[in-house]
Amino acid sequence: MERINPKLCLASYTTMILIIKNLLKRFLSVFFPFRCHVCSKNCDFGIVLCGDCIEKLKNSLHKPEKVTDTATDFDIYTMSSYSDFPSDLVKIIKYRPSKKLAQILAKTCSEQADLKSFFKQDDIVIPVPMHEKRFEERGFNQAAVLAETYVDYVGCNYSPALIRSRYTKPQASCNEKERTTNLDNAFALDSNLTKSAFKGKRLIVIDDVATTGITLQKSIEPLKELEPKEIIALVVSHSYKKI
Ligand SMILES: [Zn+2]
Repeated sequence: MERINPKLCLASYTTMILIIKNLLKRFLSVFFPFRCHVCSKNCDFGIVLCGDCIEKLKNSLHKPEKVTDTATDFDIYTMSSYSDFPSDLVKIIKYRPSKKLAQILAKTCSEQADLKSFFKQDDIVIPVPMHEKRFEERGFNQAAVLAETYVDYVGCNYSPALIRSRYTKPQASCNEKERTTNLDNAFALDSNLTKSAFKGKRLIVIDDVATTGITLQKSIEPLKELEPKEIIALVVSHSYKKI
């Protein structure tokens, strides 16, 4: 009786699975076409950012650099300067909205901005919080996605230490005067915090963008009560807009 070679069997089985996978991908691409969320180029099923746009993103990011034109009492660092691409991407993530795109942005920032050399192991990373109502509308907080991904990459500490204590209008839809007061008392410390864990530590507050720095300034105010060694902020993009 002829013996069946198990290695050959496994090879043909793997090839068959690959063929089925490719057919399924083609089928899904026909009925559920995927496009790059930035340039609208046709992509394979499940791909939200095309290769060209990933390259553009990589080329627009750099190591965190201190922002010099915001009126905050702490330092803000940005990972992109004078480039519209990352801020356009942030807008698309917000208004589309796409958690997957936020994760790609966060992972690319972690690698391209070399966050392992910027963060220290005992830093505590804190995202700018989002109000529950907006969270329900959007399904995710992009600042938290960024912060969690940075922490996973670097291996330091993460804490959702801040909460949004009241619902506010988006800063972008406020006039110049409203912007300065819109976020008054909008942030607070989470009531379940072990405050002593923050004492003497460097706290890094994470947001997607900084324009005037007001949102970051208002969000870090409650953190001062924790007596940290230092508070800084890190954003993907800064618009360099004067107050
Ligand atoms: Zn694209």
